[in-house]
Amino acid sequence: MSLETANYLNDGRTIQNMTGDHNIFTVKDDHIAFHEKYTDYGWITDHGRDSEGWIDDEWRFCYPVRFGSYEVCPHCRGEGTVVDPSVDCSGISFDDHDPHFQDDYMSGAFRITCTRCDGLRVVRPLILDEKITRWINELRRELMEDYREYRSEAMYGC
Ligand SMILES: [Zn+2]
Repeated sequence: MSLETANYLNDGRTIQNMTGDHNIFTVKDDHIAFHEKYTDYGWITDHGRDSEGWIDDEWRFCYPVRFGSYEVCPHCRGEGTVVDPSVDCSGISFDDHDPHFQDDYMSGAFRITCTRCDGLRVVRPLILDEKITRWINELRRELMEDYREYRSEAMYGC
């Protein structure tokens, strides 16, 4: 594989896009809604709907959340967008490109919405109880493992 692809797959923005919490749940005003594919997890049946969780109209498992104080988003550093990593993950040299490229790059044409803050520029730490936090951490670990596997297959073909 090309160095370009390796740089892309190792880029922090790519990793955030592929493994960030937005892959697991959506944050609502006072609860988080797990994506559909996580609704059948054993955790729910084991710990049950007798807990604080519930199923919403779209069959998503929901759980109440409280928030810490707003912080500048650490991923986009408060910009709300990041440059698409496919554009500059290997570094960038304007000399090599057509004259419009530098203008476009500087004007933000290649920026995509930050998946960490969803473009809001700020994030609030989620305060969840211990058992749901444990489950989310498991899901995060699984996502990261899947991503590592995908990446090594893409990089080394094994
Ligand atoms: Zn952000």
